[in-house]
Parts: sequence; C-alpha cells; structure tokens
Amino acid sequence: MAVFGLDIGGTKIETAIFNNDIEQQQSWRIATPTDSYQELLQAICQQVCKADEICGCQGAVGIGMPGLVNEDGAVFSANVPCASGNNIAKDLEVLLQRPVAILNDTRCFALSEANGGAGQGYERVFGAILGTGAGGGMCINGELLNQGLGLSGEYGHLPLSAYLQQKYQLPILKCGCGLTGCVESYIAGPGVQVLNQHLSGETRSCIEWAQALKRQDKGALKVLACHLDILGETFAAITKSLHPEVIVLGGGLSLVDALVEQLPGAIATHLFAGFKVPHVKRAHFGDSSGVRGAAIIGSVNAQAE
Ligand SMILES: [Zn+2]
Repeated sequence: MAVFGLDIGGTKIETAIFNNDIEQQQSWRIATPTDSYQELLQAICQQVCKADEICGCQGAVGIGMPGLVNEDGAVFSANVPCASGNNIAKDLEVLLQRPVAILNDTRCFALSEANGGAGQGYERVFGAILGTGAGGGMCINGELLNQGLGLSGEYGHLPLSAYLQQKYQLPILKCGCGLTGCVESYIAGPGVQVLNQHLSGETRSCIEWAQALKRQDKGALKVLACHLDILGETFAAITKSLHPEVIVLGGGLSLVDALVEQLPGAIATHLFAGFKVPHVKRAHFGDSSGVRGAAIIGSVNAQAE
C-alpha cells in the first residue's frame, strides 16, 4: 500500500509519497490557497489524486498542519486561517472516499523522530520543535501519548516561572495563543529577538545571534544563558511529569550548536540532584519530519479501518 503524507503550512503544501516502510519515494510542493476553505480542500484533493495516479492505487492519507485539532476534529490554525473551525479530515474523507488522519505538525515531528529517527531505540521520546514556534509531543513505544484533547505536547505554552522572570527582569508578554507569559514568547525565534533586545540592547535576528555566539560575543552569551535557563526549566518540568529518556530537538533553533550541547546541563539545574537528565539529540529527519509523521498517522489510521 502506498502512503501519502501532506504537510500543510501557511505558505506551501508539501506532498510526499511513501512506501509501506515509510521510506520517502518522491515529493513536491505547491502554494497554499489561503483565501477560501473550498479552494484549500480542492488543492489537497488534487495532490492526493496526483499521488494516486503516480502509484496506480488509492493511497492512505495523513495530514500534518500547524495549529490545534480539538476533540471533535475541528482545526484551529493561525497560519491557515481559512481552515479554522472546520473539520478538514471529515470533509476530505467525503471528497476522497477513504479515511483521512490529521494531526498538529509538531506532533507529526515527534512521531517521525520516535519511529526510525533520532529517538529510535528509546522507549520514551519527547520530540520538540523550536523554531518560529515551540511545540512537540511525547511518544511511548513509538505512539503519541494523550492525544484525546489535542493539547498534549504544547510545551511552548507552559508558563514562565516567577523565579526566572524576576532573575532576568523579563517583560511579561502576551502570547499569540491568547494566554500571557507563555515560554514560547521568550524561547522561540521571535522570543530570541526579544531576549537580545532586553539583555544586550542589540536588535538581532536568530541567525545574527547564532553568528555572534560563534565569536563568543558577550551580549550574545548573556542571551544564551537566559535562553538555556528558560528552556532547561521547561524541559525539567516535562521530565518531572512525563519522564522522557531523550528529547529530540528540531526547528531552526536546533541548529544552534551551543544550545543543543548545553541543554542537558541546563535541565539538570532545574531537576533534583542525583536524578538522571534526559539525553538531548538533534532531529534526524529535520524538515521532512512533517510529511513523514503525517504518513505514519495516515498508515496507522488506514490499517485501523
Ligand atoms: Zn501561548
């Protein structure tokens, strides 16, 4: 059976064809229609039909996208606003005449890395995207934990502790999710810019910050210390509640060497002395984890039917 993974982003839709062993065969991208929900559905159907034609059969379909999918299957996505409030999977099942699975893209990432990725060989894997946003998922024996409500894994929207807010005199920020004081506002891409401004007075993009870190710039190192403190405390909270053996990092900020290397130490600072800290690894599949994780849920969903 062929399996198709679709990664629907705010600007492009990536479609990839996989074989039964979830090995990618080919992929392509189109621009995401953002004006109307009907156009979005049509574009998705066209990609699935194209994949059917290439494979000469009806493939299983899994979709990953930014935003949340609630208990009833309704999607809430700031990146693809026309989809918000709609049950995409249900609507596509009618149009495509087959089961369709849908999942948050950072959960797809976690699933992909836990199955054949950097988390392979570990029983308990937390996959975390740290890029423009911060989200992920906990996998046990290759399966995502607690997906009923659709919220589990949203580590970026855990609150910043009073201790760290006071320690660095951080501004209390309203998050894009509607809550206030989420750690995402400090640790994801735009947050790194906030920290640079606040701690070193520099207007720096993430890339400029990473470059400044390489030349051991004092201000950049100050930002790194604060960033690691917040990220370490956040992953320590995840460790206290879920006990992952390994944390697999993906997204743009996972490319900052100093962050990945120093994170275990930063987690240890916020855990109890004498207890084991999870391993920290960089993602194996990187950007292709979105379509790959989508294909995995598509395959599992089709087999369950
Ligand atoms: Zn938030």
